[in-house]
Amino acid sequence: MPNSGAAQTGLPIMSSATVSPVGEVDEPVCIVSITVKPSRLVVDVSIPDELNRRTTPERAVHVLERFPTLREHACVNGRGRTFGSVIESTSIAHLLEHLAIELQTRASAHEAATFVGTTEWLDERVGLARIQLSFKDDLEALRALRDAVRFLNDMLSM
Ligand SMILES: [Zn+2]
Repeated sequence: MPNSGAAQTGLPIMSSATVSPVGEVDEPVCIVSITVKPSRLVVDVSIPDELNRRTTPERAVHVLERFPTLREHACVNGRGRTFGSVIESTSIAHLLEHLAIELQTRASAHEAATFVGTTEWLDERVGLARIQLSFKDDLEALRALRDAVRFLNDMLSM
């Protein structure tokens, strides 16, 4: 399947009705678009307010209280081999990636499923990032993504 628009057609789960409950326009973290590829989601996320774009030690404590195993996630980063090496100072988009993977892992009916992801800024000046998440079940992945965005919006709105 070509990478261009082809994958964006014909999948009802990509309708805006599925996406819109994830984040209202004035929420700290908003999903801009979700594209379902054969085995991964490509998710564009907008984090308009600069103050909401990075984790802090306080935010890390809050997240780890609820999701302690995030610390052990394998992660390609400049400081170490796990997400724990960067969780106190990384982008919120990167945290969203790992949260969605964590929630997908917890929900997965697929024994021993391993999920991977990537995060990159598309335009850091305006807070637009792209996250890619592998999945076994697209609906499970979408649910995990939705719940991860909710968790972050609750945290960032405190
Ligand atoms: Zn990572």
